[in-house]
This record gives sequence, C-alpha cells and structure tokens, in this order.
Amino acid sequence: MTDKLLRKPLVAGNWKMNTDRHEAASLAKGVVDSIGRQYKADIVLCPPFVWLHEVGMVLRDSNVSLGAQNFHWEDKGAFTGEISGPMLKSVGCKYAIIGHSERRQLFGETDATVNKKLKKALDIGLYPIVCLGETLAERESNKTGEIVSNQFRGAFEGVNDFQNITIAYEPVWAIGTGRNATPGQAQEVHRLLRQMLKDKTREFDKIRILYGGSVKPENAGELCVQADIDGFLVGGASLKAIDFAAIVNAALRKCQGIRHF
Ligand code: PEP
Repeated sequence: MTDKLLRKPLVAGNWKMNTDRHEAASLAKGVVDSIGRQYKADIVLCPPFVWLHEVGMVLRDSNVSLGAQNFHWEDKGAFTGEISGPMLKSVGCKYAIIGHSERRQLFGETDATVNKKLKKALDIGLYPIVCLGETLAERESNKTGEIVSNQFRGAFEGVNDFQNITIAYEPVWAIGTGRNATPGQAQEVHRLLRQMLKDKTREFDKIRILYGGSVKPENAGELCVQADIDGFLVGGASLKAIDFAAIVNAALRKCQGIRHF
C-alpha cells in the first residue's frame, strides 16, 4: 500500500437479475443507512433497469450513486428490449457497467460492442465501469495476460480520455463461484492493466481498477491492500446491505491508511 492514496476507492454492487420492487427499495435503504453518508469512497448500486427510478429515489441526498448493468450504444430506435445511455442518464444514472462477463458469455457481447458502448458512455457523460477477465481454461493454459491485454486493447481502441473510466478485473472463474483470486493473482493482473494504461495516458495512476469475483467481507481487506486494487465490483454479497457495507468499510480502511493484514 502506498503512503499517499492516489485513487478514491470505488465499490459497486451489481444486483444482476435479483430483487423484486420492495426488496430493491429496502436493500438500497439498508445501504444508505449503513454507509451512505461517508465521502471517502465512491459507492454505486446497479439494480435491474426496472428499479432504477425507485432505487434512485432512495439514494437521493446520500453519497451512493445509481448505476446500470448494461445499455445499448445507440441513443434510440428500433432495438426492441434495449435501453439506451440517454435513458439511463434521464433516470439519474451516473455509472454503467460495460462488458460484464455474463453479457459476454450469455448475450454475445464482444470487445467491439464494449468499445461502442464505452465511446457512447464517454460521449454522454455516463461513467463506465469496463469489465474484463479470463476464463478458467484460459488461466490454466497460462493465457491470462494475453487475454486480458487483448480485451483491454479491444475495449479501449480509439479512446484517449480516461478520466471518467473505471476498469474492473473480473476473472470469470471467480464470479459467483465462491472461488476468488488470491490477492497476489489479482494484483498481478491489476499491475499489468496499470502498465497498459501507462501506454495510453499520463493519468494512468489516477484510474481506478476494481477487482470482482466472489468478494466478501472476509476477503475484501486482504485484496484491497494490494497496491493496484482500488475497490470492488460485487455481485452476490451486494444483495445483503450488511455484507456490502462491510466490503465498503474494507475499502475505506485502505483509504485511511490502516493496514489490517
Ligand atoms: C459480478 O457479478 O460482477 C461479481 C463479481 O459477482 P460475485 O461477486 O457474485 O462473484
């Protein structure tokens, strides 16, 4: 951990296709009540589209921002079932996840579509959280560096302004499996990403790189003390306000410069 923290931690909760209307509002309220008033970390909740307005109302006047899990790169038109970036902005979203591995694996997203969405997000002032990460087979055949580098190049092709961008390294084998990368494994990839950012921008040390993949209150602290881990993208554990708050608190400890491990 560096003495001077260059990057404000960011912790985002990806609720995926979970919660009904009542659960969504009460989960958001639980998060606001437990950690919604601190300003040392950026906190983002990404509920299903249909609860964005309702959750946004709960987050009003708190320090928790609203985010979306996905969007289409076109502004409007004949794209049945899709949601556009300007729609997200008009419902109060500040952030949007782009290229989550479930989108890539189950819905055919590619580095090219990630790139289009990223450019649209930057165009309209939506803060993108760009996900990348390798599968288990790729890790086991020692291709992690190659895969992640290719995803990085594809996603950021033609992008020069990185100031609103957050990257999330999410090894696919660790998502929703209970199996997380060790702090060393995660840091190795985060360092590689930081190096790649260095080739793109002088501001490389100001860009946040989140880790995602079975983050829990029990492992958040040891992950977060790694030099290039600047917070988390949290799936399962973001569905319990108390667990999500504990993960945010682990990120805040880094911010306060307290070593816990
Ligand atoms: C995710 O969905 O981005 C994620 C990291 O999920 P989980 O925390 O459940 O592994």
